[in-house]
Amino acid sequence: IMALITVSGFPSSGKSTRSSQLKAFLDAKLADPDYNGPALTVQIISDDSLNIDRAVYNDSRSEKPARGAIFTAMQREMSPNKILIIDSLNYIKGFRYQMYCAAREAKVRVATLYVVAPPDTCREWNTSRQDGKSYQSETFDNLIQRYEEPSSMVRWDSPLFTVLWEDESVPGEAIWEAITKGNIKPPNSGT
Ligand code: ADP
Repeated sequence: IMALITVSGFPSSGKSTRSSQLKAFLDAKLADPDYNGPALTVQIISDDSLNIDRAVYNDSRSEKPARGAIFTAMQREMSPNKILIIDSLNYIKGFRYQMYCAAREAKVRVATLYVVAPPDTCREWNTSRQDGKSYQSETFDNLIQRYEEPSSMVRWDSPLFTVLWEDESVPGEAIWEAITKGNIKPPNSGT
């Protein structure tokens, strides 16, 4: 089997934090003696893993190739027996749709993790982060304004899982169920 988990959320909302929590959860599941499915690896593709500087989001001309790099990496890394986590803003509906179509084409199970935090909380985390990955203030505001919220009503964001800023952990069990036990619909089967 193979699965694609798309993470989406405001800038500095905790996407990378939640992605590593999710990876740790899935790795533990796979290492559990009770698990007797195929051996799977969990891999995170992120702006950081692709050396995409946060500054590319200052300008739509530099943002476009960055999205292209993420999409290319996703296609390159898709392989049987892998769970891919795409940890990036993924804030454009059309881009999530594009990734969904590529995944369906490859008969890959999908899930979306929506990392939710109030704008002011994100702004605070963005300002106080010490890892050199802050967005410029103007860029931050722009990204919040342009953010296109995932919806469980559209097939490319479904199944949709949500984690709130105050939650201790990610809904790992539910995501695990969705990607290991969900039915695979053939591409173009409608909603
Ligand atoms: P993103 O990947 O969305 O940019 P990160 O996971 O890198 O966000 O987190 C951004 C900053 O916010 C980091 O400094 C991180 O430590 C902090 N942070 C993330 N999630 C939480 C949380 N739930 N509570 C407190 N601080 C958090």
